[in-house]
Amino acid sequence: MADSVPTRRALLTGLAAAPIAAAAAAERKERRSKKRKPPRPTVQHVDVAIVGAGVFGAWTAWHLLRAGKSVRLFDAYGAGHVRASSGGESRVIRMGYGADTIYSQMARESLKYWKDLSDSASAPIFHNSGVLWFAPQGDAYTAQSLAWLQANGVGHEHGDVRWLQDKYRQMQFYQGETGILETETGALIAGRGVQEVIADAGIGVERVVMPAPLFSKKTKRHALPDGGTADNLVYCAGPWLAELFPQQLANRIVATRQEVYHFGAPQGDTRFAPPELPVWADNANGGIFYGIPDIEGAGFKIAIDRHGPRIDPDTMERTLSAEGIAEARTYMARRFPGLASAPLVGGRVCQYENSSNGDYLIDRFPGQERVWLVGGGSGHGFKNGPAVGKRVAAHILDANLAVEPRFTLATKGTTAARTVF
Ligand SMILES: Cc1cc2nc3c(=O)[nH]c(=O)nc-3n(C[C@H](O)[C@H](O)[C@H](O)COP(=O)(O)OP(=O)(O)OC[C@H]3O[C@@H](n4cnc5c(N)ncnc54)[C@H](O)[C@@H]3O)c2cc1C
Repeated sequence: MADSVPTRRALLTGLAAAPIAAAAAAERKERRSKKRKPPRPTVQHVDVAIVGAGVFGAWTAWHLLRAGKSVRLFDAYGAGHVRASSGGESRVIRMGYGADTIYSQMARESLKYWKDLSDSASAPIFHNSGVLWFAPQGDAYTAQSLAWLQANGVGHEHGDVRWLQDKYRQMQFYQGETGILETETGALIAGRGVQEVIADAGIGVERVVMPAPLFSKKTKRHALPDGGTADNLVYCAGPWLAELFPQQLANRIVATRQEVYHFGAPQGDTRFAPPELPVWADNANGGIFYGIPDIEGAGFKIAIDRHGPRIDPDTMERTLSAEGIAEARTYMARRFPGLASAPLVGGRVCQYENSSNGDYLIDRFPGQERVWLVGGGSGHGFKNGPAVGKRVAAHILDANLAVEPRFTLATKGTTAARTVF
């Protein structure tokens, strides 16, 4: 019958369609098999995963990448963000540290890295304004700092109250005060500085809230939330460290509320900006008042190095207190009379992440050879980011390198923290 006998045309189209049908079937099969396979993680395995892209995490990544290691860098909010301890406008870098010469050496080493970074950045990260430290005559910290600067050939000047008053006429000094001007140091740009370190390292920041370590006994690697793995984990979580590791760090790393204020000098008045005014720190009033001259148009910055109440860095309201502003104004009227009625032009509420003795924490997580806890900047960590990162990288490159006793977890007590700045 005509229906059952294929015509020549039908035969021809059938023949032509055969390979197309086969190709479509193959394509469907491939699509199905693709569907069954789980998605491959972007990165399967790295040498080191770093949690926290503040100044410590950023410089750790920088040094490890320079040493040829593969690295992933994670941060819950991104690099140098507004809630991080490393956020905001500026930080002091000085070398005088009294008898704590370990920090003098770290600052000296770090300055080199900050300067190199600053030289290649599109805008400066380091401002060589100098740092003026003053205190009553006979202050042991000042004498020890001076001795270290002298012994190490670091640029400085020093003198008595006459020298201070002649040099800085926009400030008011008082009988019996002495001072040291470090000439090689100054101020660092904070949040933008951290972002610049990361850009220079050539790494991206993955915005992920990371958990405490997940170790796979089968692969003997640390598992990452997206299925990737890492040989080493470094937690540079700043004020969040104790939240991640409450058993080990509760009351050992304590986040406290800190305020900084920016006041505006009158139009055309250059006395409160470099080169006329350096970074300054006053050790004459019980608590330490310190400040940064008007850099990058941010205004004259003043802060008090005294620990505020404990806070949660995620949920803290960041509004300046009226008492804090008043305390800063009272101080300025006495020490910087030209700013007595200057308007508040900015400010910031952030937090210190204090250890009990002000020493940093750079140690292994107890019982875990390849998990590192790095933090406890205690109000003086920013300047030393490069040296801290270098030390952490050195530990990862050489498992036998001894941990500096002052940076061990064992030395971090639960007593009230001391201020350092
Ligand atoms: C007001 C003020 C003034 C200061 N002045 C000076 C100064 O003059 N000189 C100086 O040297 N130092 C100073 N410091 C101290 C210095 O800024 C800090 O010690 C330093 O920035 C701490 O860096 P960090 O990397 O440890 O922490 P952070 O910068 O807070 O970085 C930690 C990062 O970890 C991330 N993180 C936390 N938990 C997780 C998680 N579970 N998953 C993913 N990411 C996570 C956070 O988002 C954050 O970005 C000052 C600090 C303050 C607040």
